[in-house]
Amino acid sequence: MRQTVQPMDRKMMRELNQNMLLNLIRLHAPISRTQLKKLSGLSLGTIVGITSALIEQELVIETGVAESTGGRKPGLLEVYPEGGYVVGIDLREHEVLGAILNLHGNIIYCDSWPAQLRNNAAHAVNILAHGTDAFIARSQIPRSKLLGLGCGISGPVNAQTGVNVDSWILNWHNVELARPLSEHLHMPVFTDNAVNCLACYKKLYGNGQKYRNFLLVTLGRGLGLATVIRDDPFRGAQGIGAEFGHIPFYFEDGRLCECGNYGCLEAYVSDHGILATYRSLAPDAPELPIQNLVKLAQEGDKVALQALERTGTYLGAGLATLVNLFNPECLIIEGSRDWGDLFLHTMKSSLQEHIFSQIGRDLELIVESNADLFNWARGAGCLVLRDFFSSPIRLNSMGPQETVRARSS
Ligand SMILES: [Zn+2]
Repeated sequence: MRQTVQPMDRKMMRELNQNMLLNLIRLHAPISRTQLKKLSGLSLGTIVGITSALIEQELVIETGVAESTGGRKPGLLEVYPEGGYVVGIDLREHEVLGAILNLHGNIIYCDSWPAQLRNNAAHAVNILAHGTDAFIARSQIPRSKLLGLGCGISGPVNAQTGVNVDSWILNWHNVELARPLSEHLHMPVFTDNAVNCLACYKKLYGNGQKYRNFLLVTLGRGLGLATVIRDDPFRGAQGIGAEFGHIPFYFEDGRLCECGNYGCLEAYVSDHGILATYRSLAPDAPELPIQNLVKLAQEGDKVALQALERTGTYLGAGLATLVNLFNPECLIIEGSRDWGDLFLHTMKSSLQEHIFSQIGRDLELIVESNADLFNWARGAGCLVLRDFFSSPIRLNSMGPQETVRARSS
């Protein structure tokens, strides 16, 4: 029996094809329609129709012409960077970092402004809404061109409900952000843990782009992890999993962690963990900030070097746990400052020492420093871009455990 395609199915099919072509253009730009035909398997007629519509919507532009073997020179397509913009904000204890990105994920405007967020959950939505409104006004980007706001926060965030479950840095617990912010700002709002935001940037535009399974570990004020499994962050049953910093690491007289537990890994390898190790080796040494400890180590101070080497050993063992559990293709370690080789050698040898069987054989290890704080805001903005480039089927079929969006309008 011959089946007819229902009009709704045709609409969905067109949306799917449009999404596929938009993403192929994003990933392979500049690209010709003939190359799109090869990559997509769609007919040239369908491609011409959809790309014309995308050009009309100002989502795609023709940027040049490809080499031709004769006849009309084929036009090359790319996502039109100014076709839309997204806002990303990263929440700190006493300030907000903001960035506006174009559709290429590039920062076109960024700024920070003071905001008393720590110990102030009750007024958070008001402070953020007014601050973000003023930021958008300063940027002079028309609001009609804004696709939404992404908001990155420390600590576990339920990305589905848009609730910041706990942030010890801000001293916030069960703070609902996405829905009320969306109502104030009249745009979709997405929230997630800041490291998941950064991983979102890496997956869309950065060095996580070519991996389906990668881990991003961030070192600095805390110890963060984003676990990208089959292109999406792994979240667990309550949507707040993958808390690498708080795995039990030290059992006998473990240090008190900010989360209230004893012996968490973060209490050993975060900035304050490194300082605690240094003080344990030099009890008479005066209190000093982390940057001074790094400077001491760079100048050859033996105790400072020893503290950092120990940190590398601790971190390497923790990373081996992750690699043994997830068998990722790539492990990206991102520090908030340039550590040089101060602890990398002990980190790598400890990692190798604890890797099980052949799990680490093809593991790619990328170590980089993320000194530009606005990259965190950029990551937050990428939550909106991920939603924008997501397939309609993927968005409809995501269950609570996989959901990566908290659209509240
Ligand atoms: Zn902890």
